[in-house]
Parts: sequence; C-alpha cells; structure tokens
Amino acid sequence: MIHVRTRTGRGPDPPSLLLDDGRILEIGRDLSDDRARVINGTGNVVLPGFIDTHRHNWQGALRNLGPAWTYQEYRSQVQIGLGQYFDPRDVHVGNLAADLMSLDSGVTTVRDESHISNSPEHSDAAIAAHWESGIRAVFDHGWLSTEAEQWQFGSDRTHPDDIRGIRNEVLSDDSARVTLNAMLRGPELTTLQVSEHDIRLARELGLRISMHVGLGEWGAEQQAVRHLEETGLLASDMTFIHLCTSTDEELRMLAARGATASVAGALEVFTPGLG
Ligand SMILES: [Zn+2]
Repeated sequence: MIHVRTRTGRGPDPPSLLLDDGRILEIGRDLSDDRARVINGTGNVVLPGFIDTHRHNWQGALRNLGPAWTYQEYRSQVQIGLGQYFDPRDVHVGNLAADLMSLDSGVTTVRDESHISNSPEHSDAAIAAHWESGIRAVFDHGWLSTEAEQWQFGSDRTHPDDIRGIRNEVLSDDSARVTLNAMLRGPELTTLQVSEHDIRLARELGLRISMHVGLGEWGAEQQAVRHLEETGLLASDMTFIHLCTSTDEELRMLAARGATASVAGALEVFTPGLG
C-alpha cells in the first residue's frame, strides 16, 4: 500500500498515480498505460516536492561544519574566513552536493542565495551545477566573499555588475528550470544610497529581490524594512529572509506591500546572535 498526501487531505487508498514529465495526470485505482514505466511505491509516501526558499548552496561543500556556532562564528569562519578561498570548482562541488542532498530529502525547488560571486566564473560554476543536478533552482546572485567585511554592514560598494551579463546572456528565460533573482544587501548591510542603487538595478533587469534582514541586535537598530517603506522602495517583488528582530510595525508594512518572508526557524532559534 502507498499513501498519497495532498494539500486537501488523503487520496484514494491504495492508489496508483499516472505521471507525465513530472506532472500528476491522474490518481486512482489500477491505472494503466501501455507506454508507462511502472514504479512500485509500496510502503512509501507520495507528496509534492518541497520548496526551500533560502539555502546557501555553495556551503554544501562544508557539510556538518559548525552546527553549534554563533552567528559571529559563522560569519568569521565561513563568510570572512573560507569564502575567499573558494575557487569556481569548489563552488561547483558545493552547489552540486547541496542540490543532490536537497533532492534526496524531497526538496525539488531551491532558492540558492549565492553570496560567492567572487568572479563571473564562480557564478557560472554555481549555475552549471543547478543544470547538472536536475533540481529546479532560483539562482540568487549575491555579493563577493572576498573582502567579505567590506561588502557588509555599512558597505559603500554597489552590487557586482556582472549580474547584467548573467541576466542578458546566461539566465534570460524566466520560464526555464533555472532562473535568476538578485540577492541584495539592502539598508541593513549597505548605505541607503547603495541600497537604492542596487534595488533600481534589479528592477531594471526585471529581477525579484531577496534581502537578509532583522539579523540580531544590528537588525533591530537598522530597521531595514521601515527604511524601504519610507523611501518608497518596499514592493511585492521582495522576499525578506530571517526578520528575527524586525518590529511588528515592519512586518505589517511588509504584508501591506505584498512582499514575502522566508523564515528558517531552527537556525534562528538555536544560533546565538542571529535570532
Ligand atoms: Zn542566509
């Protein structure tokens, strides 16, 4: 017997599923199609693929490293420490490993928050791994992990310009299996002028935007969402990640504009300095 779980409840029991190119055409008993390959799913559960809206796939190469780190330890060890030493081959390995681990655990779509844009070749390697793994991916082009400190917390550097080339030459088709978004730092990690520049760049290129905000005490002081609302930049093309120390007022602003939130509960609860 196999079990089918859907958003509305439990399917017929014991069911058969007729699939075509990844889509469920029919759920019922004793379905048959002469051309179909039959997979016996006895003892298993069939359910839709999970969507992970926040993963730093390049760090798939660092599996099981630092499960008990504080946020500051993670920053200094990974973003400031190891990130600068990643070459494009390392990014490819990390992304491919993360994709395959995702698929193995039922995640079939991932938003890859890629702040390892150390060179255009690094981004090419990350994207190539997504094509290779077979996962459905949003490649979210971020900043560099060389000189990581200069790219965050009050940074006056604008978003790396090679996002234009990726948009125009590599990921221009928004209906493809791998698509492009812009992972921006926003007012929490850059100056307001840089933040505005970067948001306008993403919108000029027709890209959705993500931002990590509400990071610990720093996030509470910065109130990034409120700044975006007050400067007229907050809109429905934005996804905010974490929001741990964002105020209730900011969450209401976010909802009113139709923006979305991505929370990572376990990480936020158990990482000192983040949540
Ligand atoms: Zn993150």
